[in-house]
Amino acid sequence: MAHPLTYLEDELRDLRERGLFRWPRLLEGPQEPVARYDGREVINLCSNNYLGLANHPVLKDAARQALDALGVGSGAVRTIAGNMAIHRQVEDELARFKHTEATLLYQSGFTANAGTVSAILGKDDVIVSDELNHASIIDGARLSGAAKKIFPHKDVTAARALLEESRGARHVLLITDGVFSMDGDIAPLPALVALAEEFGAIMMVDDAHASGVLGSAGRGTVDHFHLHGRVHVQVGTLSKAFACQGGYVAGSQTLVDYLIHRARPLLFSTSHPPSVAATALAAVRLVQQQPEIIERLWDNTRFFKRGLGQLGFNTGMSETPITPVIVGDEVRALELSDRLFAHGVFALSIAFPTVPRGKARVRTIVTAGHTQDQLRRALDAFERAGRELHLI
Ligand SMILES: *Cc1c(COP(=O)(O)O)cnc(C)c1O
Repeated sequence: MAHPLTYLEDELRDLRERGLFRWPRLLEGPQEPVARYDGREVINLCSNNYLGLANHPVLKDAARQALDALGVGSGAVRTIAGNMAIHRQVEDELARFKHTEATLLYQSGFTANAGTVSAILGKDDVIVSDELNHASIIDGARLSGAAKKIFPHKDVTAARALLEESRGARHVLLITDGVFSMDGDIAPLPALVALAEEFGAIMMVDDAHASGVLGSAGRGTVDHFHLHGRVHVQVGTLSKAFACQGGYVAGSQTLVDYLIHRARPLLFSTSHPPSVAATALAAVRLVQQQPEIIERLWDNTRFFKRGLGQLGFNTGMSETPITPVIVGDEVRALELSDRLFAHGVFALSIAFPTVPRGKARVRTIVTAGHTQDQLRRALDAFERAGRELHLI
């Protein structure tokens, strides 16, 4: 008899035949602006290490000290025996940082979204969601059992129509990414917040790519648009600009009190090792003390984006350090990424299902840690590869 998992091989064969079968490249040293992937030193335009903090001495010291003082693991889920003082300290610091009553740590941004959405909504509720929202929001919506109503990307008029037709529902959640991870554009948050207020909906924003990037000292899109107090649920990540691991929800004390009793990732999965919590704490403090790191990120962003535009690439609607080079065909996007790698630049190609079919791209993210010389060399590589593939 055939092995019961043989059917997986059929799907894999299909990917191989279409030239889409890939294993992730292997990073052999630390996560740096120039890094060694698959045995090759390349300029790294793939990481979410926006502020270049992944190897910052202050963060490493914080991790080391917590490791020595508190050990390697928390030993349990928070609600059983794994609720360490360092976890509370991070939450208190994040609440001050976000100007909210309270925050709650999760093991990742993914679990923060999925765990929160599925905890606060049920089958009698409606979720009104941007079509490009992150997978963790989509999974949370599925787990909640709520009816899903999807509006076209950033289409406030369509969102309004969906809210209008949801008037009879028990609770309605209007939800958007703050910065969209594959396009680098920013949500129309002021207009969405006004809609949520008009219809009495819960407003939630996922600021994974805005954390440490947008707003004063990287407080996120709510701060960027001066909407403090008007967004009921904010999700942030500690895994990108803050360079370690984890996610959190920021909002009212009531929200956090409820989630402690109902959010399943919190109830059924072990809390952060103390060294990770200590790193997060150090990172959040550091950006408040040295906001000029964020300025460097934006200087690099403007420089690199301008360069790609001048070369004639289609960079879509990006407004942030995420700059896609949109190619369309997924095999062509893979080819561009491969050529760039051969020319010393690591920039990943992204295709369906992460982006819609026909919108395949090579996505770039610059960091505060890149030098202008590195970015100039990266632009040279884009020019060579782009000409070789007749994209420019
Ligand atoms: C990366 C990302 C997440 C998940 O965050 P992790 O901390 O990596 O789990 C959630 N939402 C968006 C929009 C993201 O880009």
